[in-house]
Formats: sequence, structure tokens, C-alpha cells
Amino acid sequence: MHQIPDSSVHARFANGFARSIELICPRCHEKSMFDARPWQEHGRQIVATEMSCTRCENEGLLVQLVDEYGNCKPASLFTWPEPGGRHSMPGLPHLQALSGPLARSYESALKLYNHAEWGATALTVRHLIEGLAARLLPDKRELPLPRQLDALPRDLDLSRPLQDLSQLMAPDGAFGRHFDDETSIDKVTAEHLLELAEQLLQYLVVMPGEMAELKSRIATAPVPLRRGSGAA
Ligand SMILES: [Zn+2]
Repeated sequence: MHQIPDSSVHARFANGFARSIELICPRCHEKSMFDARPWQEHGRQIVATEMSCTRCENEGLLVQLVDEYGNCKPASLFTWPEPGGRHSMPGLPHLQALSGPLARSYESALKLYNHAEWGATALTVRHLIEGLAARLLPDKRELPLPRQLDALPRDLDLSRPLQDLSQLMAPDGAFGRHFDDETSIDKVTAEHLLELAEQLLQYLVVMPGEMAELKSRIATAPVPLRRGSGAA
């Protein structure tokens, strides 16, 4: 089940339950209106119904949580299957902190993608990557983009996220000093340690693995025929 923001509901039945919901259809991949059928109660806390895409008639399920008076609880409308479109990446606030304009470029690329504007998406992504390279390597901004990207791993201190790690784990470090007596470890410490391990895995294992996977998908993607390059 995937939560739908209440703002996606465009019309409601007299009892307050959603009647038309705007979503990106997982089948026709268009932003379209879904019409809900009359809702039915299931126990005291849930009402459910089916809905269908007004463009392609694709069907989906809707579930709504209700309060003790039978009214919709806020932010508790769910759908299955998941609507189409892409969601924002986790960690967007870090991009916002680095540069507001870059975060806005990313958000507009996502919006264009979710409107099936493929060409405009690609141009915005290129603009985003150029902006990122210029932001990270300000003295290289005159170079063409491929040269700037070549310079990234050379000129950026990529080991910085890993510094201080040994200090934390050393016998007198913030984590290290707990290991002698595991009963001294509380929830917060365990949480921080787990988060640290997850970030380390993300940086050392997940990111390189996903990049390699993406590169191999790019290499095996069918090359689109250029207009006019067909029958000669
Ligand atoms: Zn559809």
C-alpha cells in the first residue's frame, strides 16, 4: 500500500470519502483522474473501494483509515498498486543545503519526468550535472563538462566522509569505549552505530554496485533509431 497525499483528492462523496483522485497511472503513465466506486466499511477503522483510470480504465485499490466517528483520518489514504512516476531521492535536504538552485533543478527534472516530458527531463538533468560540477569544482567551470567530470574524482576529497571513523571506533572513541561493557550501550548509541554502518555500506558497497549496474543497463539499452536513418 502506498500513501497518497490528501491534496491528490479532487472531489469527495457526500460522506467525505474520496471520489476523484489525481495520480500518475501505473499503466498508461499519464497524470490522470481515477474515479472511485462507493466505499465499503471493513471493520471499524478502515473503508475500502476500487478505482479506475479515466484514460485507460486500469483498476486500483483504495483504502482509507477512519476515526471513531467514521470520518477520514488525515494523511491516511492508501492505494495499491503504487502510482507511476518517480519519487524524490532520499537525502534531498543535503542537496538543498549545498545549493538551492541545484535542488530546484533536480525537482523540476523529476516533475518533467513525471509528466512524461522525456526530452525536457534529459536537458534539465544535464543542466543539473553541469551545475553540480561547477559548484563542486568552481575553478574548472570554464572546461567542457566531460573534462570537469574527469576532474571530479581527482580534485574532490572523496575520502572525507571516511575520516574520523577510526577515531570513533578506537578503544577510547565515542563507540569504541562502549564495547568493553555492552550493558552500557543504550538505544541512541546502538542507533548511531547502525546508522554509521549503513552509511559506510552505502558509500563503499551500495553506491559502486548500483553505478556498475546502471552502466551495464546503459550499455545494453537498445539504441533508438534516429529520425530519417531508417530505409535509405
Ligand atoms: Zn491509465
